[in-house]
Amino acid sequence: MPNAKAYAVENAATPFGSTTIPRREVTDRDVEIEIQYCGICHSDLHTARDEWASVMPTVYPCVPGHEIVGKVTKVGDQVSKFKVGDAVGVGCLVGSDRSCACCHSDLEQLCPNSVFTYNSPDPHGTAPVTYGGYSESIVVDEHFVLSVPENLELAAAAPLLCAGITTYSPLKRGDVGPGRKVGIVGLGGLGHMGVKIAKAMGAHVVVFTRTPSKAEDAKRLGADEVILSTDEDQMAQHAGSFHFILDCVSARHDINMYLGMLAHDGELSLVGAPEEPFEVSAFALLFGRKKLSGSLIGGIAETQEMLDFCGEHGIVSDVEVIPIQQLNEAYERLVNGDVKYRFSIDMSSIQQD
Ligand code: NAP
Ligand code: ZN
Repeated sequence: MPNAKAYAVENAATPFGSTTIPRREVTDRDVEIEIQYCGICHSDLHTARDEWASVMPTVYPCVPGHEIVGKVTKVGDQVSKFKVGDAVGVGCLVGSDRSCACCHSDLEQLCPNSVFTYNSPDPHGTAPVTYGGYSESIVVDEHFVLSVPENLELAAAAPLLCAGITTYSPLKRGDVGPGRKVGIVGLGGLGHMGVKIAKAMGAHVVVFTRTPSKAEDAKRLGADEVILSTDEDQMAQHAGSFHFILDCVSARHDINMYLGMLAHDGELSLVGAPEEPFEVSAFALLFGRKKLSGSLIGGIAETQEMLDFCGEHGIVSDVEVIPIQQLNEAYERLVNGDVKYRFSIDMSSIQQD
């Protein structure tokens, strides 16, 4: 079995270190990818530090990373979608049963047997769990490999594979477009993609942030208005006026405040995934018949649709490219909200170890 260089954590409290991991041999429908860039999602941090222990406990060693782009280095005999040299991406999913109602509806992410890119039991038995993109290479069934549009710069396209699809999918289902007032809560990795995508869909986009210094950036990214969520007057001015709000916050916060910002029949969709439960006021939903929903990444066909949409509109992430040796420092900065707006690891740096 081939080995690959990777960065792993050995438990929730230790920093990342360099290691080697097994990758499976390429079989008929597999694509082997040399990883060129991998984004750092807050879900990587939740998992590395076992912050989702009650829902999805982390199995160590853990190699996160599900915003993967690179080039194809080998394909199996039956592979029809890709050839050696193609620019490709892999997001949060590397497998599903392909036979359930969800899979038949292109909703592989909802399949009861979906296999996530890291920390899922490995159906191939290569290792106890799947290992993600903080690595020099990965082998993935072609169904779960995406084509990256040629005009998109790879380092900045990597975050589309999670932050892009996670915001595109609910925005699209929420009928976001011209004439609709859309709120994006939390200007982080997901939030800044949400702003760019909602704007490209034609909506009136408003950012809610608790960080005053992000206001200027929010406008540059495409927001029509910015609301400081800690300012009661600003919040009151917009109360009851939103059609759709996408909540991208990674920590516990008051969602009733955002339900109050919705117009009647409006929808608050959660994509942020704090471990602790929320308190929801029934009255905040009843008066105005408001909807509270959640959304999980997107299916494979929808992920390709999102990539093509971003290709057409020239949308990529605002990234700070780092060598993998700065991973631990990057995690500390992510916790402190000190990233504009996504770290993208230049994976060629792993060869220096
Ligand atoms: P991120 O880059 O760290 O951004 C999170 C943003 O939330 C911050 O920039 C900050 O924005 C705001 N925030 C952080 N702590 C807060 C607090 N205590 N109170 C209020 N606001 C706070 O994280 P990300 O990578 O975008 O991920 C966001 C969340 O989505 C994570 O929980 C992640 O696991 C989850 N996620 C879910 C899916 C899915 O499929 N549903 C997919 C990917 C990620 P401001 O400074 O602007 O307020
Ligand atoms: Zn992610």
